[in-house]
Parts: sequence; structure tokens; C-alpha cells
Amino acid sequence: MLLEITSTASPATDLGYLLHKNPANVRSVDLAFGRAHVFYPEATPERCTAAVLVEVDPIGLVRRGRGRPAFSLAEYVNDRPYVASSFLSTAIAKVYGTALSGRADGYEALAATALPLEAHLPVVGCRGGADLACELFEPLGYQVATTPVPLDRTRPDWGESRYLDLTIRADVVLRDLLRHLYVLLPVMDDDKHYWVERSEIDKLLAKGGGWLGDHPRRDLITQRYLRYKGSLLREALARLTDDDTLPPDEPERREDTLERTMRLGDQRIATVVSVLRADGIRSVIDLGCGAGRLLRELVKERALERITGVDVSVSALDAAARRLNVEEMSPRQRERVTLFQGALTYTDARFEGYDAAILMEVIEHLDVERLPALERTVFGAARPRTVVVTTPNAAYNVRFEGLPTGAFRHRDHRFEWDAETFGAWASRVAGRTGYRVRFMPVGAVDPEVGPPTQMAVFER
Ligand code: SAH
Repeated sequence: MLLEITSTASPATDLGYLLHKNPANVRSVDLAFGRAHVFYPEATPERCTAAVLVEVDPIGLVRRGRGRPAFSLAEYVNDRPYVASSFLSTAIAKVYGTALSGRADGYEALAATALPLEAHLPVVGCRGGADLACELFEPLGYQVATTPVPLDRTRPDWGESRYLDLTIRADVVLRDLLRHLYVLLPVMDDDKHYWVERSEIDKLLAKGGGWLGDHPRRDLITQRYLRYKGSLLREALARLTDDDTLPPDEPERREDTLERTMRLGDQRIATVVSVLRADGIRSVIDLGCGAGRLLRELVKERALERITGVDVSVSALDAAARRLNVEEMSPRQRERVTLFQGALTYTDARFEGYDAAILMEVIEHLDVERLPALERTVFGAARPRTVVVTTPNAAYNVRFEGLPTGAFRHRDHRFEWDAETFGAWASRVAGRTGYRVRFMPVGAVDPEVGPPTQMAVFER
């Protein structure tokens, strides 16, 4: 199988520096399943092409126990040596590992520059055809060209094979091009040459960081990349989107259900933001901010002068800092945004002095016995003008296909309340602490069971 990357930047031979491979040499590297060769079929100042040729050793693969025990010709004679697949991703990571990681000692500026690059893959087996190839690469800014590969070049009457010749072209940072290919090659192929385990999530998030979360085919990419393993999928999607509404313990969730659930997360954020706007809020603290999905939207609100995220989980805060790109913020932006670790069950002076506090999908993560402590912290001590609380509506759970009766939407939920229980809790808290409370639905309201998420807005 072959991958050619061509630069037409001037001078194009800079590609050699970026890939850490000298255009004058041929380099060969051993892989677990064969051998990869890197060479430059063309290297002029106008146009420079680096090729990776991967030889897969099918006999070695079968011997190493990848095949089924009984002899079958298909184990030796198949498309694996020729079609761009996870083998090629593994080869990319091995031969272009430095470029893929974005390290560029001495060439930082060049490595961070979008260059006119083209990647050509002569044989791609895209399940979903040329249309899917376009849907995968076009949202990332590529021009996509595909030609069907004939079944047999000497027998045009035999028609087309199911393989494509694929070229993608864009002004793109080389590291990003490599990351896009690394993730999307096995996605198009819809197979993996190795057993997929939990570490795949980290690979996916490392290589998909910055582009996968907002990709319109995110769910399909994640499903295929993780080989439809429900438990991995849920975790990956949660980490990509920080949506914690995915029902537990369902092995394979259909894409449409997932997408419906995703949109609910967006609606929740939109509803919270609309309340802040309507109340003229200038400073806000997101209590239990998780990985910062709401914070990312809050940062876009010009009216907000001070935005703070709090969580007990350090890893959630790390993820939030990454999502917000804190390190690349201008000093002024950085002054607006603060993240710190804290527990909502202990009174904390750092929670004070904000116009509004948000508890979005947080209360159900606390044991019911701990709620009075949270009430004291938020409504008793911090006492912002506005408090917004969202939580799942338990009555809606019957509408989630595959969620067993009585089960919660998330493993870490300690309770899920129906509208009556939530209403009673909120009214009691408001009455005791001197707030008025009103309720708003989030998501499409079902005539029988109500909205998927319920929201209480406390004001004083
Ligand atoms: N608000 C976010 C995250 C919801 S998940 C969102 O809607 O996307 C619940 C979050 O609450 C988790 O990140 C968890 O770490 C945090 N959390 C749970 N108990 C907490 C406590 N006692 N103090 C602070 N944060 C807590």
C-alpha cells in the first residue's frame, strides 16, 4: 500500500525537514506486520513528493496467529497488503512519528504553517464509497478527488472494483494532515488489524484533538475507529463532548440515538446561556464544570467579564484547560477565565462574588445525603443573584431505547428525579434561602413524559 504526500510550497523540499527524512535517501523500517519504505519520487524546489510504501507480510500475519486456525486461501490472498488501512496508520506513526507529534526542533514556524499539501492514496477501500470519503475530508477543508479503481486494468469490460483512488488537497499544517489520515484511514476501511482496547480512546483523542469534536461525522468516525465497542464508544464520546447523558450498559448504540443525545447537550448549553443573557449576568461560576463544554460557550459571550470553572476532578480541569486553549489565550482573555479545584460540599470563599452560578448536570452526581451541604455552599454562603440547576428528568428515561427500566443515564448518577421530586426539592431550597424559583424544559418536550432535561432558575 502506498501513501504519497506532495508539497508545492516554495521551496517544496522543506517537506524533507518536516518529515525528518532526507529527500536524497531511501529509508526502510521494520514493522510488526511487514516493512515500510520512505522515499521521494520527486524532489524539486517546486514540487516534492514523499512516499511511504508499506509491504504487509500476509504469511507472517497468519503464522503469528492473526488468521483462523484452519487453512484457508483467503488468509493469504486478500486485499490487506494493498488497501490503505490501519496498517498504514501504524506505519505513519512509525515513520513520521515526530511530524505526527508536532515536534519540529528548529523548524517550529514552518511546522506550524499551513502549506499547500496533497495526499494521494492509490487504493482506498471506503465503506460508504466516494460520498463518505467526501463527508470525512471536506469538513476539514480538503478538496477531495476520487476515481474508481477498475477491477482489472486489462479488462475494462469487467467494470469497477469497490476501491477508490483518493486525492485530498488543502492548505494545511503537515501535522494535521497526518493526524487526519491516521484517524480516517481505518475509518474508511472500517476494520482494524489489531484488537481494539481502551488505549485506542487515548490514541483517538490525541490524534483527533482539535478537529474531531466538531466534525459532522464525529459519531460515525468514533464508532468505526473503536470498532463499535459500546463501552469504549461511550467513554470516547463523553470525553469528546463531555456529554454525560449516554445511557449505560448498552452494547451498541445506534448512531441516530447517539446524535439525538448529543444535540440535547447543545440545547442544554443554549438554554443556560439564554438565561444568563436575559438576566444581564456579567460574572459566572460553573460549579462542576467537567471538561469545560459550557465554559467554551461562555467564553464567546462578550457580556461576561469573569468566567470561572470549578470541579473536584483534576483530570476534568485539565481537559477543560485544553478545550479552552488557555495556554494560547491572550493575556486579556486569560484574565477573564479561571479554573480551580474545589468541592461543592464545603463552603468556599472562592465561590463568592459572582452574578450567577451554574450547576449543570451536577446535583445527581452527589449522594442525596450530601445535597444539604451543597445547598449551604451555594444558596447559603456564595449566594449569587442567579443560580441555574439542570438535571435529568427521570420520567423521560423510557424514551431512551435500550436503557433498562429503572436504570440511570450515567454510571455515576446517584439519583434521577422526575419533575415532581425536582420541583419539590427546588421549591423547598428556594423557600428556605430566600430565592424565587421558576422551571424551564430543556430539549423537545414529550407530551407524556415531559422534556429530557429539567432546569430550575433561582433568583433573588
Ligand atoms: N457540568 C458539566 C459536567 C457534568 S458531570 C457538564 O454538564 O458537562 C458532573 C461533574 O461534577 C463532574 O465533572 C464531577 O467531577 C463534578 N462533581 C461531582 N461531585 C462534585 C463535588 N462534590 N464538587 C465539585 N465537583 C463535583
